[in-house]
Amino acid sequence: MNYSNTLAFAKEQDQKDPFRHFKDRFYAPQLNKQDAIYFCGNSLGLQPKSAQAYLDHEMQNWADFAVEGHFKTDTPWLHYHELLTEATARVVGAKPLEVVVMNSLTVNLHLMLVSFYRPQGRRFKIITEGAAFPSDQYALESQARFHGYNPEEAVVELFPRPGEHTLRTEDILASIAEHSEELALVMMGGINYYTGQLFDMEAITKAGHAAGAMVGFDLAHAAGNVLLHLHDWHVDFGVWCTYKYMNSGPGGTSGVFVHERHARNAALPRFAGWWGHDAEERFQMKKGFKPMPGAAGWQLSNAQILPMAVHRAALELFDEAGMNNLRKKSEQLTGFLAFLIDEIGADKSRLEVITPRDPQARGCQLSLLVRQDARLLFDLLMQAGIIVDFREPDVIRVAPTPLYNSFEEVYRFAEVLRFCLSRKS
Ligand SMILES: *Cc1c(COP(=O)(O)O)cnc(C)c1O
Repeated sequence: MNYSNTLAFAKEQDQKDPFRHFKDRFYAPQLNKQDAIYFCGNSLGLQPKSAQAYLDHEMQNWADFAVEGHFKTDTPWLHYHELLTEATARVVGAKPLEVVVMNSLTVNLHLMLVSFYRPQGRRFKIITEGAAFPSDQYALESQARFHGYNPEEAVVELFPRPGEHTLRTEDILASIAEHSEELALVMMGGINYYTGQLFDMEAITKAGHAAGAMVGFDLAHAAGNVLLHLHDWHVDFGVWCTYKYMNSGPGGTSGVFVHERHARNAALPRFAGWWGHDAEERFQMKKGFKPMPGAAGWQLSNAQILPMAVHRAALELFDEAGMNNLRKKSEQLTGFLAFLIDEIGADKSRLEVITPRDPQARGCQLSLLVRQDARLLFDLLMQAGIIVDFREPDVIRVAPTPLYNSFEEVYRFAEVLRFCLSRKS
């Protein structure tokens, strides 16, 4: 797409945008008594207006039916989580057997590590991206310790080359090959939360398997943002939250992917609970855990209906829009943002985009490294009615999402950014 640095161009793109009406299906947060420009869907997605009705429906069922709500309503709670399965599978490129919605993200990561991090003898190492989201670091570190290893030795963190901000795929693959004799697991973000780098999950999975390791991804920043083909890529497991790009509410429920080839593998150890037991006989309350085939067999507890009701509303929007269409707009929208930032022509010593330039190596987020007064710039943006996010010590993350952001908003952001930078110098 050929971009042009004018408001007219932005408005023209919005006219052509098949999703221009989706904005009205979300509540707009208020700042200075006005609708804010919200570029923070990577942290907490906006509330779909339809969510309230889904939630109210289950609250009413609870009021009207109490325990009978498990069976007697149009959306019986006993099977509620199954209402989410097919739409979830479409978002992450999986078969329905391969996904389940349950718990929260870090909990699910631990559950997956119990099954897929099986260190033995010399094979005990985990390769991960350096400076991963802290919860991922702590999960890996504590799992290594749980198995009796020193995390300093067990967890191999990969860092960019000196002077670079993101990892090169060739370096990731080389490191996997280098550690192949000792490697038990490759576990990284699908997209790094800080730099916005989208990793080549297919190549990494292939290399991990060639090295004899399991491969899993934390897709917190990838699910609902970029196209995923978890099944075709042969990824062993994946986990994600639903409150970021998937707009399913603060602390909302989480998703899990387990590849089909593990669906009936009874040899995989797991921490079990009654909801993962064969549904046919779950209520016979018998001794002896018999897992359901597929990801559902990792469930522990009966479904959290209220957050799932919100998730259901959000997933319907994804189904209506289609991930392919969303990603197409997303590339254009973020491409426009990158173009406009280039146009500002700020000196690298002031402002640098650390997210990869290649659209195939990023999702919708651009991370701006602000070398002077990053906090002040963030405050100025807020004063101008723009909500972005600040990460210590000096990065501002800007995430225009295709569901509810427009080209005009991107244009207005760039205008304010240009003004702020000129003001500060
Ligand atoms: C947001 C995020 C989390 C958050 O974990 P919760 O268990 O949902 O609090 C974890 N990992 C990554 C990579 C994230 O981006």
